Amino acid sequence: MPLGFHLSISRGLSWALKKAEELGCDILQIFSRNPRGWRRGEISEGEAERFREDLMNSSISTLILHTSYLTNLATSDEEIYRLSIGAIKEDMERALMIGGQMVVTHIGSTKGGSRSRGISRVVKALEEIGRSMDGEVRLLLENSSGSGYHVGWSVEEIGEILRPFRGNGSIGFCLDTCHAFAAGYPIHEEGGLSRLLEGIQSSIGMERLHLLHLNDSKGDLGSRVDRHEHIGRGRIGTRGFRIILNHPLLRELPMILETPRKSDEDDRRNMRVVRRLMKGGVLR
Ligand SMILES: [Zn+2]
Ligand SMILES: [Zn+2]
Repeated sequence: MPLGFHLSISRGLSWALKKAEELGCDILQIFSRNPRGWRRGEISEGEAERFREDLMNSSISTLILHTSYLTNLATSDEEIYRLSIGAIKEDMERALMIGGQMVVTHIGSTKGGSRSRGISRVVKALEEIGRSMDGEVRLLLENSSGSGYHVGWSVEEIGEILRPFRGNGSIGFCLDTCHAFAAGYPIHEEGGLSRLLEGIQSSIGMERLHLLHLNDSKGDLGSRVDRHEHIGRGRIGTRGFRIILNHPLLRELPMILETPRKSDEDDRRNMRVVRRLMKGGVLR
């Protein structure tokens, strides 16, 4: 099971790559740009080429880019909608340029508008983005916690969005454990996890699930609160993560931790906990 962290690129791409190796990551996720803005740092073709080479010579097998948090494909605000589509297109290009294989995006919020209109806006946006994609980089939609009119908290909703793209392997799904739990899926129990996975199978297709975001949840089951916690220290807990990490349908998937980090030690501890739980080991 390829495992890694989401790391900051505030000190540059090469720093993030080195840090990921230092932390023992197999894979790495980074922001494509300032996560709270639209601006994106420029990378020259030369820099990109050097980075691709470093990446190839590193122990990191998969590089994932995460789009800005401002991205909203469900909005009825035309300006935000255009900016979002443009930013995702740019991020797909950026991924190709620096050797990234996947781009993960939040879907967006209707901000109180009609849900069905929101969903059809998302589909139209994906159709447009899809036309400029060359198939080398995969775009993944991430499930939301359902807070603030966010679309895509349920597998049925994501299934509805992805249905027109059946057979198109370049658009897929990323499952965030904190978001699913906060949205009301009791994935900390075997039965609840199985029901979610059956839902993914019937509404989305398991073959479209390409990535797990592994986060414990500060918020309760169904709280719709999107606050990540250290693995085992939140409401999903070590028992819950042992079930999730050892599930035969999940255990081979690439997994990215987006857990809180004050220091490297936080990351090292979360990594240790995950590796131990995967082996079915007992903690402490
Ligand atoms: Zn996530
Ligand atoms: Zn989150």
